[in-house]
Amino acid sequence: MERFVYLDNQGSTRIDPRVLTAMLPYFTDHYGNPSNILSRYGRIAHEAIDRARQTLADYLGADSQNEIVFTSGATEANDLAVNGVIDALADASRLPHIITSRIEHAGILNTCKGLERRGIAVSYIGVDEQGLVSLPELRGAIREETVLISIMAANNEVGSIQPIAEIGEIARNAGILFHTDAAQYLSLGKLEVNRLHADLVSLSAHKIYGPKGIGALYIRQSVPLKGRIPGGMQQRGLRGGTLNTPGIAGFAEAVRLLAREHEEDARRIRALRDRLLSNLQRDLRIRVNGTLERRLPGNLNLAFLDTTAVALIALVPEIAVSVGSACSNAEPSHVLKAMGLPGDLVERSVRFSLGRFTTEAEIDYVSALLPQRLGRPPHAHDTAQEKKITE
Ligand SMILES: *Cc1c(COP(=O)(O)O)cnc(C)c1O
Repeated sequence: MERFVYLDNQGSTRIDPRVLTAMLPYFTDHYGNPSNILSRYGRIAHEAIDRARQTLADYLGADSQNEIVFTSGATEANDLAVNGVIDALADASRLPHIITSRIEHAGILNTCKGLERRGIAVSYIGVDEQGLVSLPELRGAIREETVLISIMAANNEVGSIQPIAEIGEIARNAGILFHTDAAQYLSLGKLEVNRLHADLVSLSAHKIYGPKGIGALYIRQSVPLKGRIPGGMQQRGLRGGTLNTPGIAGFAEAVRLLAREHEEDARRIRALRDRLLSNLQRDLRIRVNGTLERRLPGNLNLAFLDTTAVALIALVPEIAVSVGSACSNAEPSHVLKAMGLPGDLVERSVRFSLGRFTTEAEIDYVSALLPQRLGRPPHAHDTAQEKKITE
């Protein structure tokens, strides 16, 4: 039994050994510049990237592999989507308006703050206590000048799966572009951009057992978009810079594995998550934040009524979990606040995120360790007190 247990798979995942194997030849043998297709070395790299684009396009149900642009990750893809559309559509005579949600990843929220400083109006749609965006509020926020709706497909803190098909339909009926950050959603299986009416989709490899530093933006062919980094005009000037061949080969292998294994992964991970929840519910006073119905299988976000999150992490340093999101270290979670959780419970909330490599032995170890360290004798519930705190 390992003493350390990694339950922070929504922060990042361990690379799948099969992904690493797929990457290695592009470090050791096929290291040519993929833009130089006159050389055999460059051609091999170029062909690998073409195959990877096709793999991603197939997984998304895209019409063409030209609709995939590789980036350094979902953060950059989000920036390219939002700023790229605004830069393509903004004209001095009329400032555009965009709609996003209050539970987006920090990158989107900071990008939107930047737009507001440029005088572009942004509406931030709220969520219910389940962490699901309000569709009536979304419909009500649409204006004449609205050009883009950017709402994440699945949330990284509470795992809530948003009604993106409905959002896509609202956007399409109103003639507005729809961008979705699918960094977390990707592991659920095929995205089907046409069925969802998604015009732009952000992806990241390191949330799906691929390497860090590589991601992609799906851009529907009809979408007007201005690149942010022209560089040497790689990727049609939408995103210049020498392509990261090993990263791209790894990303594609990670997606191929998902295409084959996502259902099996989800079944196993969900069962382990439910086991962890029922074990902890038996021995500790906890409250589940967010929906259990529309939730990523590996996510569990819990408020511990008897301890703060920071204290819990100090008491069980063997277990890697997270508070808020990894990127906004120890800041009170904007997601839990948006869900209406009282500040007291926000401070007591911890995210456990399970993944492909989580084992039942690890879950049982964590289930025993937590009550032991938190000093609660098993089964000693004080329901009157619990009621007071959760009300
Ligand atoms: C991790 C994550 C990102 C950032 O992705 P990077 O590839 O690390 O830049 C963006 N959005 C969501 C929802 C994420 O979970």
